[in-house]
Amino acid sequence: MPVRSKDTFLVFGSPLIEQAEIDEVVASMESGWLGTGPKVAQFEKDFSAYLGDGHSAACNSCTAALHLSLVALGLQPGDEVITTPLTFCASVNAIIHAGCTPVLADVNPVTQNIDPASIREKITDRTRAILPVHFAGRSCDMDDIMAIAREFNLKVVEDCAHAIETTYKGQHAGTFGDFGCFSFYVTKNVCTGEGGMVVAKAEEDIKNVKILGLHGMSADAWKRFSDEGYKHYQVVHAGFKYNMMDIQAAIGIHQLARVEENFKRRCEIWDMYQEAFAPMPVGTPAPEEPDTRHARHLYTLMVDPVYAGIDRDQLLVRLNKENIGAGVHYLAIPEHPYYQERFGWKLEDTPQAVALGRQTISLPLSPKLTDDDVNDVITAVKECLDA
Ligand SMILES: *Cc1c(COP(=O)(O)O)cnc(C)c1O
Repeated sequence: MPVRSKDTFLVFGSPLIEQAEIDEVVASMESGWLGTGPKVAQFEKDFSAYLGDGHSAACNSCTAALHLSLVALGLQPGDEVITTPLTFCASVNAIIHAGCTPVLADVNPVTQNIDPASIREKITDRTRAILPVHFAGRSCDMDDIMAIAREFNLKVVEDCAHAIETTYKGQHAGTFGDFGCFSFYVTKNVCTGEGGMVVAKAEEDIKNVKILGLHGMSADAWKRFSDEGYKHYQVVHAGFKYNMMDIQAAIGIHQLARVEENFKRRCEIWDMYQEAFAPMPVGTPAPEEPDTRHARHLYTLMVDPVYAGIDRDQLLVRLNKENIGAGVHYLAIPEHPYYQERFGWKLEDTPQAVALGRQTISLPLSPKLTDDDVNDVITAVKECLDA
């Protein structure tokens, strides 16, 4: 891997791709099997084995995974789904595309995850599901969320886009609710370029998701051109075109094989940041809750101008000038005009998420970073704050 010099821009979220992925993609292309085939089946099997439980259906994004899960639950127009305002817009858009009404509960300011007490306040007689997001890789309070779900007979779809390695009391995120949805977007902990996975305990649920994700064609439709002879298919739903390609799975199989190794490297980077930023006038991530594992997907600083002397957006600009790429996860959902206009959401309805969204900045945390890169980030942040 070429060593980055200080004069080149450090790209936020750049993935670590190794020769094994490259060779497997080439093998896929040479085999002529580019679409959904044996490598996708292998990746699904490996993913279930990694989580230690359940069944998996690969698809072409986590957004698709969330959409398919909500459709598979059989929710009806007007049904309300409670989610967090501190998330990527895809969590909310998936609810809208499933024909449901998104409802925002506020977050806990320390964990930055959806606050179970706020979920309770938002329940109405139209509420049918909860869509928690394990933000930055920190597990939501799954005991409380599942207790609420049982009490009010609600479905649960976990957005695990940040949370492949996350566990809560020894159990993997994504295996608590009816469905768990994962992302393999370029910046995520396992990447396939674009890609996603739905997981569920029941094989029947995953079969249904696979049918919905491939035009609504009856099971095993993808085998229709195999050497077993042509098979007619029947369309049983107005489905979607959300299947993963073998070229994507070829990358994912090797990324997944190194998931723990990459996690370990991000833990080292995380600890370097924690040590460096603890004495500085910025907020750092709270320690993870006992008996949980934080997936170390995002390392976020909180920039309160009263203490830091500059605001978050100024820090973004200054870091950019220092050749350091940073991210924002996220401006709270009610900041966006579409949701304000359609749902009448106001900033003061979810004050914690709005405040966090205006102060948060995510620093590079890719396992690709060398110690020199990490020290460059630390030095740049210090200089930007002192300037
Ligand atoms: C990345 C992300 C998604 C969407 O994932 P895609 O695979 O890009 O569709 C959904 N939710 C959260 C919280 C994310 O970070």
